[in-house]
Amino acid sequence: MKRLIIFIMCILLLTGCGGAEETASATVFAMDTVMNLETGGLNANRAVEEMTAEINNLNVLLSATDERSLIHNSGHHELFVKVEALSERTNGAFDPKLHAVMEAWGFPTKAYRIPTQGELEAALAEDAWDLGGIAKGYTADRCVDILDRLNVNRALLDLGGNVQTYGTKADGTPWRIGIDNPSGDGYLGVISVEGTKAVVTSGDYQRYFEENGIRYHHILDPETGASADSGLRSVTVICDSGTTADALSTALFVMGLEEGAKFWRSSDDFEAVFVTADGKIYATEGAGLSDCAFEVIAR
Ligand code: AMP
Ligand code: MG
Repeated sequence: MKRLIIFIMCILLLTGCGGAEETASATVFAMDTVMNLETGGLNANRAVEEMTAEINNLNVLLSATDERSLIHNSGHHELFVKVEALSERTNGAFDPKLHAVMEAWGFPTKAYRIPTQGELEAALAEDAWDLGGIAKGYTADRCVDILDRLNVNRALLDLGGNVQTYGTKADGTPWRIGIDNPSGDGYLGVISVEGTKAVVTSGDYQRYFEENGIRYHHILDPETGASADSGLRSVTVICDSGTTADALSTALFVMGLEEGAKFWRSSDDFEAVFVTADGKIYATEGAGLSDCAFEVIAR
């Protein structure tokens, strides 16, 4: 009996509060995607609770359709200034005013249809706000604010194609983020990042419909209003700012490989990985890509 009690005490010591750090996780459905939050260390549980509340809040605030959103209630939020600047920086490839065009294709309601040329032109002229291209990145930035405020040690947030790392991994090794294979399951390669980074992917496989064998996806070319057809399947951007990463991944997808590489050479705040329609992978020299064959884009 005594032996049994000692044995039970040993188990309690091993599994109890001795040593093991606090960890927490949650799954949230918002912004049309499944989001997974994981934290470790100080305030891990509280951070997950607060981030979940913030995501649900931003899900309403950043919506293009919800009556309670920023778009419908204030035209002069600080976010709009940032978004306009990103649009200018990308020479309009990131265009936050494509909501009417998204509607013409049926994306917001999932009642997909192919609009006529006239409908597209009318929709392009409408200039209706749509923050879908930065919503998840901006949300990641606001989650980082919470993690900062609560002094959380580490976190890995997967906001549906938008990954945000925070702090250092428990074992001290870099975070390893898989790049989705656009044509199937699994990963094409791995991006290693240290510390707090946004790793954001825009791809033609994330939201689309098909008709007569043609894929109509959700990243629009602001010049034509049609799905961007730049020879890319996906673009991943690695950057300190989630909002910037998100805007740039969308914009680089529209630009295509050549123009995108040029844009990278004229910038100093991000790295990128491009996956082309013929399955080739190109990575800027600081992207931290491994576990696959790829061509390096040099400065
Ligand atoms: P992402 O998944 O971040 O590339 O953003 C795509 C979403 O942003 C779409 O679902 C639209 O809501 C919106 N969008 C589509 N095309 C563009 C564009 N060229 N610039 C900015 N936002 C866009
Ligand atoms: Mg984006």
